[in-house]
Amino acid sequence: MANIGFIGLGNMGLPMAANLVAAGHNVTGFDTVTAAQNAATEMGIAIAGSAASAAKDQDTVVTMLPNGDIVLSVFEEISNAANPGMLIIDSSTIDVASAKKAHAMAEAAGLLSLDAPVSGGVGGAEAGTLTFMAGGSTEAFEKAKLFLEIMGGRIVHCGDGGAGQSAKICNNMLLGISMIGACEAFSLADKLGLSQEALFDVVSTSSGSCWSVNTYCPVPDVGPTSPADNDYKPGFAAALMLKDLGLSQQAAEETEIATPMGRHATDLYAEFVKSGAGGTDFSGIIKYLAELKRD
Ligand code: NAD
Repeated sequence: MANIGFIGLGNMGLPMAANLVAAGHNVTGFDTVTAAQNAATEMGIAIAGSAASAAKDQDTVVTMLPNGDIVLSVFEEISNAANPGMLIIDSSTIDVASAKKAHAMAEAAGLLSLDAPVSGGVGGAEAGTLTFMAGGSTEAFEKAKLFLEIMGGRIVHCGDGGAGQSAKICNNMLLGISMIGACEAFSLADKLGLSQEALFDVVSTSSGSCWSVNTYCPVPDVGPTSPADNDYKPGFAAALMLKDLGLSQQAAEETEIATPMGRHATDLYAEFVKSGAGGTDFSGIIKYLAELKRD
């Protein structure tokens, strides 16, 4: 049984921390919001008064926070309070540059660190089936594995510090682009008088097949059950897709690479979210795209 600190007990962090408790570990959490603290107490998570006290005398700390600036400020607080050799796993989705800074900060304080963002959403967090994409030393990865295996179903060591975040944003940039492509194909088929079911039957077994069509079809009553069959309730909210596309564009700018489709997908999701659809599933962009006028 390990002593684990868990900072950020929101939609993702709370069920992840609850799975660590269910596996028999002692979890002490911290969140700035009282409602999150109360929900965590009900799940058997002890609540500390600050991030620093949640990290004190722990073997491992997990952070699951909204953005890079918050992760860096929490890392700073934790670094001053943690015992040397402690492992910090950051599972938030943040920009690659901040992830690398967080690793450097941990190293300077004599701590082990891993960036380990996830895919799988709240459902995966509750079921303990998340995919973890990890970046950091082999020592940090091997030490983290025991805990990641409790919270996740698939764990990939992608490389050195920052590699997990790099994998996450590249995957999600491709996902945003492929979802828009899938939506356009189904809308065009509809205008051509081709049934949505017929297009699915062809594409899902042809060269256009992809996760956005085969597993997460944006058209209701076509293919396996997806958020389209539930009035586009997330799933994966459009606002989170926009966040990840924004991180991909930040990384593209920093590395001076052109990602024209990634940039266009970012612009389209920005417009979709601006229209008030941030809380709907990202596949709901099919309705927005179908209404766009040709210029
Ligand atoms: P959330 O907003 O529900 O949870 C974040 C929590 O962090 C909140 O409870 C907030 O009060 C807390 N917090 C903020 N600042 C803090 C601080 N300084 N100290 C302690 N706690 C603080 O967000 P979420 O949906 O749980 O997402 C968390 C991370 O996981 C994000 O980086 C997100 O991009 C990523 N992610 C989310 C999903 C998803 O489907 N929700 C999927 C994959 C990855």
